[in-house]
Formats: sequence, structure tokens, C-alpha cells
Amino acid sequence: MNDSFGILQSLKRIGVDPQNPGTSTGSVWMDSGESHLPSYSPADGQLIGKVQQTSAETYEQVITQAQMAFETWRTIPAPQRGEVVREIGNALREVKADLGKLVSYEMGKSYQEGLGEVQEMIDICDFAVGLSRQLYGLTMHSERPGHRMYEQWHPLGIVGIISAFNFPVAVWSWNAAIAWVCGDVCVWKPSEKAPLSGIACQKIVSGIFAKHGMPEGISNLIVGDYKVGEWMTQDTRVPLISATGSTRMGKIVGKTVAERLGRSLLELGGNNAIIITENADLDMAIRGALFGAVGTAGQRCTTTRRLIIQENVYEEVKSRLASAYSKLVIGNPLDEKNHVGPLIDQDSVKNYLRAIEKVKAEGGKAVVEGGVLEGPGFESGCYVKPAIYEAENHFEIVQHETFAPILYLIKYKTLPEAIALHNGVPQGLSSAIMTTNIREAEAFLSAAGSDCGIANVNIGTSGAEIGGAFGGEKETGGGRESGSDSWKAYMRRQTNTINYSTSLPLAQGIKFDI
Ligand code: NAD
Repeated sequence: MNDSFGILQSLKRIGVDPQNPGTSTGSVWMDSGESHLPSYSPADGQLIGKVQQTSAETYEQVITQAQMAFETWRTIPAPQRGEVVREIGNALREVKADLGKLVSYEMGKSYQEGLGEVQEMIDICDFAVGLSRQLYGLTMHSERPGHRMYEQWHPLGIVGIISAFNFPVAVWSWNAAIAWVCGDVCVWKPSEKAPLSGIACQKIVSGIFAKHGMPEGISNLIVGDYKVGEWMTQDTRVPLISATGSTRMGKIVGKTVAERLGRSLLELGGNNAIIITENADLDMAIRGALFGAVGTAGQRCTTTRRLIIQENVYEEVKSRLASAYSKLVIGNPLDEKNHVGPLIDQDSVKNYLRAIEKVKAEGGKAVVEGGVLEGPGFESGCYVKPAIYEAENHFEIVQHETFAPILYLIKYKTLPEAIALHNGVPQGLSSAIMTTNIREAEAFLSAAGSDCGIANVNIGTSGAEIGGAFGGEKETGGGRESGSDSWKAYMRRQTNTINYSTSLPLAQGIKFDI
């Protein structure tokens, strides 16, 4: 492979072999006898490596080892588990440049965003360390004399993590760092489109568990497509499945896990909008919309897909956005002069082209026309032009998440109408209003405002900090992970009542004497 960006050196420094097995319980890597999954870079179409997929047999070995590891890990005091996670954060600091580069090359996001993704991993480790001393339960006043009531939080067991291609490492860390301090063990199935990033993470963390004398099986990796994911979703030994990906996947996973009365934490697709009112600071609105719509080539769950613009500023926003789009430089994501990198693969390019056809067929008008780029530098066939179309909110294609840089412009007259348009889609992840008017801002944040899990004022929809709970409503799946009290999803709550009196009164004053 032509390695002008030094990927092979980065892989070597992290300890990743381009022909790596994909099944691991920590320091142990298993030969599954299965075929190898190729990983191609969308940046230049080159084969980066091949990862051996997990077999049914090695999956069983992983789960058995994870069960055994849980018996030890759950008894380690949470602050000591936090100490291990603190060292994982430090190890990530040391490999930030190499891992960021691999993420950028394997997934296609810019190098800056690759670094940002690793920084999120470091941040969540720091958060989890603090959390390891704050897994608080409440105490309650018992109605019975001589009784004490309180609740405590215990670890659940094995957390199955299924992740999407677009955040190939950060989403795992949001789950794993928190699950580990909670006393759980993790089995991770990364996206089949970014398996080497998964291997890199497993290599980075496994040495740290070993150094602390911890058993194999606290951090586990399995590799393969949806079938490998299904082994976990159907497995009663995995009490929690945290799945990030499309709504289509979430509906299947949610149903499968519910059928066995397991728990699922679903982080699914978005259809995020920014309302730009006539009181907006338009410089900020344009900047927020631009990064939101074209950053990561429109492949973030929080990407801005709709702009709902007040009619008095509509034409100005439209022409300023078109002008900003004309200055975008598209190309290799590792070259820092480029603003927009490739889509993940050619299937994704087909979806992008289908969406453009569809919006036009439904009556949409191009403001900035899309298209696929060809020629030197675009050999992978995955580079597309960020596009803008004037559309109506009710168009079938506008109701749907297309995972590509296509932005729809929608006009409104009054704020209640804008909020109704905003909420009038099946998804409910991220949302924003651009306004300097406090009444408009508060109305948007009120119970009658945005129906999303994330609602911002004068910030775009794209991206989030780890300190808040991340996730969305409706077809986004309802899950919350990362900050705030999201940790509760990874633990089971136990209510304890202790009688220190010499009598045995029943609750609600019930008499039962013989
Ligand atoms: P995808 O649904 O195709 O795949 C996601 C993961 O699910 C992969 O690991 C895949 O192998 C696995 N999978 C698919 N079907 C499965 C099944 N039936 N059983 C078990 N596992 C299964 O998604 P993708 O193309 O990788 O990612 C893009 C999607 O992810 C977008 O819709 C995006 O909005 C969403 N996403 C959501 C969030 C969030 O936090 N809400 C974050 C990132 C991405």
C-alpha cells in the first residue's frame, strides 16, 4: 500500500497487525478458523488490512471467559476499577495521534475529527474515574419503626456493545469506560466497516488490565457482520445490549432483546434540524449550519439535515450558504487543507444519489447541486459534493435519514409553525434554534418546544460534550449514554430494608396474627 500518511507506522506503534485475528478476551487473541474481513480505506480505496472474523465456537469461549471475569471484577471496589480506567485514559493520551490517524483513514473523517474522537475517549475515561466514587443510591425513611431502607446499585454482568462505523472508537469508550467502573465486563462488536479501529482499542486497553493482575475477559472483542451481533442480542447471558446504528437495526435488535426480557440501550438515527429565526445572528447561523451539514461528510448521527428558516431571512441564508458551499475543499481527510472527506463506501454513494433523485422527483429544487467526484485523488469512488435542496418537510425523502451531506431548506412564517415542522419527523435526536430573542429560545426549550434528546440554542446540532446524557427520542431509540446519570443503565438497582427492632410489623399496617 502507498503509505504517504504513515498509517503502517501508526498501526505498528499501537501493535496492530494488518492480518490480525478479530476475537480477543484481552491479551489472548484467538484463531477462529473463519475468513478474514477486509478493511478498505474510503480515502484512497486501498486495502488497509484483513481481520479474522469470530466463529460461533470462539464466541462461546469469549462469553464463558467474560462470565468468569465478571465474578472477579464485580468484587473490586469501584474506585479501584476507576484507577484502571484512569490508566486507560493515560494510555489513550499517548497514542492519540496514531489512533486518530487510523480512525481518519479507516472511516474517512478528517484527521482533526479523528483526534477529536480519541479526545472524547480520554474525556469519558476522566469522567468515569470521578464517577467511580459517585455511584450513589438514595436512603428512604421507612414507615415501620426500627427499620431502615436504602438502595444500592450493583453491576449487571456482561454488556454487549454493538457500534456503528461513523464513530468507530468513541461510542465503544462511552459505553465501556462507564460499564467498567460500574463493575460490568464488556463484549464489543465494532462495525464491520471499521474493524481495525476496534483491534487497536483492544490492544491499547488489554495490557492495562493485565498489569493490574485482572483476569482475561473484562474487555472482549468479537468481529463480524450483523450475524455476530445477533449471537449477542439473542444471548440471555448478556443482560444489556447497547446498540448504536440505524433505526432499521435498532428495531430488530430492540425486538430480539425484548423477547428475552433483556435490556437494550438504543442509539439510532437522527433527522436533525436547526430553526433559524429572523432574530438570529446570521454569521453564527451560517457557520453552525455549515459544519453541521458537511462535517464528517454528513455522516454523524447529529448531522444537520434540515434548516427551517423564517421567510424574512430565507433568501439571505440561502445565498450565503450557497456561497460558503462553493468554498468547500473536498479531498483526502488526512490532508488538513480539505474540509470534506469521503463517504464510507460505494453503497453509501448510491444512497446519496438515490436521495437526490428522490427529492427532485418530489418537487425539490437544487440550491447547490450534488454529484460524485472523479479523477485523481478520488479513485475510491466515495467522494461526493455536499448538496442543498429546497424542499417540503412532508416529502418522504425529507422524513428519512440519508447518511450523506444533503441539506434541505424549509421556509416558515411563525415560530409555532417552525416547531411543528421541526418535530414533524419520526426521529428525535439533536435540534437547535438560532436566535438572539429569549422568548423564542425559551419556547424552543420548553415542554411545547423541541421533542429531541438534545436541544441547543445558538449552537448547531452536530456533536456533543461527554458530560451530558447523549441520545434521542422516538425512532432514535430512547437510550442515553455517556454523562449525567446514564451510568444507571449499566447497573441494577436493589432496594434494601433492614429491621433492627424486636417486632415484625408488616408494611401498610397489615395484621396477620396467629
Ligand atoms: P448499521 O445499523 O448498518 O450498523 C450498526 C451496527 O449494528 C454494526 O455493527 C452492524 O453489524 C450491527 N447490526 C446490524 N444489524 C444487526 C442485527 N440485526 N443484529 C445485531 N447487530 C446488527 O449502522 P451504520 O451504517 O454502521 O451507522 C450509521 C447509522 O448509525 C446512522 O443511522 C446513524 O444515525 C446511526 N448512529 C447513531 C448514533 C447515536 O448515538 N444515536 C451514533 C452513531 C451512529
